[in-house]
Amino acid sequence: MSPLEQCDLCRRQGGRLDFNHVCCRVRFLLKMPHVEIRRAWIEYWRRRDGDTIATQIETEVKARWAERNRA
Ligand SMILES: [Zn+2]
Repeated sequence: MSPLEQCDLCRRQGGRLDFNHVCCRVRFLLKMPHVEIRRAWIEYWRRRDGDTIATQIETEVKARWAERNRA
């Protein structure tokens, strides 16, 4: 899988989000302090949008989270 494309909102690093974009949902989840809440959102999206997109979000969040903890 190629690295996740960042939309204009994400590149500008403003507070705005577009939940149609995977990148924005990832950014949203990274602000959530509790893993239970992040999991609940991912499960919600999995039911609503299907496995492919939910797994993509989950993978990206895990990668970014690991990166952040290493810093
Ligand atoms: Zn975005």
